[in-house]
Amino acid sequence: MANMDDQFKRVVSHCKEYGFVFQSSELYDGLSAVYDYGPLGVELKNNIKQYWWAAMVQAHEEIVGIDSAIFMHPRIWKASGHVDAFNDPLIDNKDSKKRYRADVLIEDYVGKIDAKIEKEVKKAAKRFGDAFDKEQFLATNPRVLANKEKIAAIEGRLGQAMTDGNLADIKAQIEELGIACPVSGSKNWTDVRQFNLMFNTQLGNISGEEAKLYLRPETAQGIFVNYLNVQKTSRKKLPFGIAQIGKAFRNEIVARQFIFRMREFEQMEMQYFVQPGEEMKWYEYWKEKRLKWHLALGISEEMYRFHDHDNLAHYANAAADIQFNFPFGFKELEGIHSRTDFDLSSHEEYSGRNVKYFDPERNESYVPYVVETSVGLDRMFLSMMCSALQVETVKDAKGNDTERTVLKLPHALAPIKVAVLPLLKNKPELTERARKIFDALKFDLQAQYDEKDAIGKRYRRQDAAGTPYCVTIDFETLEDNCVTIRDRDNLKQERVQIADIKNYVSKTTKMSSLLSKF
Ligand code: ATP
Repeated sequence: MANMDDQFKRVVSHCKEYGFVFQSSELYDGLSAVYDYGPLGVELKNNIKQYWWAAMVQAHEEIVGIDSAIFMHPRIWKASGHVDAFNDPLIDNKDSKKRYRADVLIEDYVGKIDAKIEKEVKKAAKRFGDAFDKEQFLATNPRVLANKEKIAAIEGRLGQAMTDGNLADIKAQIEELGIACPVSGSKNWTDVRQFNLMFNTQLGNISGEEAKLYLRPETAQGIFVNYLNVQKTSRKKLPFGIAQIGKAFRNEIVARQFIFRMREFEQMEMQYFVQPGEEMKWYEYWKEKRLKWHLALGISEEMYRFHDHDNLAHYANAAADIQFNFPFGFKELEGIHSRTDFDLSSHEEYSGRNVKYFDPERNESYVPYVVETSVGLDRMFLSMMCSALQVETVKDAKGNDTERTVLKLPHALAPIKVAVLPLLKNKPELTERARKIFDALKFDLQAQYDEKDAIGKRYRRQDAAGTPYCVTIDFETLEDNCVTIRDRDNLKQERVQIADIKNYVSKTTKMSSLLSKF
């Protein structure tokens, strides 16, 4: 296994080389933290969306979807608290002139202590072998306990300073911990300042505050301001949910981690409206459900963990992240937040309109509480690429060792499910047959026809694209109506009747193969 830095570099260059992700506006030297998805990328992205939509909307009778506009009335962002409170603390290093998010500098410091704990665990696991009890080790080892205490103290203080907007204390903490600029090693920091993350533009040709429009920094508000329209038209009773997939925009201070932190990105959010007082039950319910959604993809459980928030956003009474072990460490992939009635009550106040839900069973009206699940589509994409990309040594046709780059994506998410390959390009009897097979598959499966280059080279290309199955049409096919199906992961080849190809491929690549796992 490559070291983590190498793995990340490999993912970034693979994304470009095979048409998954391109730097936006590359022709003009690029636009920082903005990316475009290429032919394979858009397919993978669409498949992730489909998996989420099916798991959230199709699988739940009480959840419906919407697609709200990016532009909304500017008072919505005043009501939601984003105009006044959607800030990040920024800090500059005076020597390197590099800018950082002050809280992230401290979180990265915590990440290093956390890595020490992980190292201790690994060492002990090796030493004790089968007798190793991880829980007990974590609860009793003095070095681990001391480090855990350190982390709790740092996170507690940071959380308090963030909640109070105490920028001076954030800076003091950076200095006391001796945090240096990762680029220059210098500890010469400016003061910490607040920076609002919302982009704005203006409506029509009027200028000034009146016409100021914001690009939404989250999709959630489009759901809140529509919740009564949706509830009434779809005749839902509490608890019910509204789901949405859409673009969000944040003027991120630092954007150096490829598609992990972008200025334009996509969110998949679901707001679940519940009776006041029941929110913690539903919060726990959705934490568990969402983790299962991730685990059904078949990536090792150890790559995921929960991280409970000490530092709560202005709208939340409980919040946890599902973190993924990216090559640069465990980082937030999804947020699950108990948002109380903050948003709806605030919209009631700012709009002057009644947004209460009438509960027919209790015969009373009240503002529902909200539990939300919010996952970044681009971060999901990145987590899939990071865990799938592997370089393996395999035997070639002559039995010699050779390297292959393979993208072991979950089958249902793979951009191409099956490649149809005539053995030789210049034999019309093979190519015609292959085209026929391709035509019979293409409306049911994401299929690709490829006749260029030697068969081995075509296999490698499909491995790099993450295609689970390659179907080869050879001279025998003309005799026995069978093709060879090659499996991406174990390289086994099997003869299969042409009439059975669709079933054979669909069995593992259809979305329901994932959805039925939880
Ligand atoms: P972070 O702490 O990493 O800035 P956040 O806590 O601000 O993230 P949320 O507001 O909870 O993020 O947004 C929900 C999800 O949207 C995140 O879990 C993440 O997957 C995604 N997301 C947020 N900001 C970005 C971004 N700049 N680029 C890509 N995805 C993002």
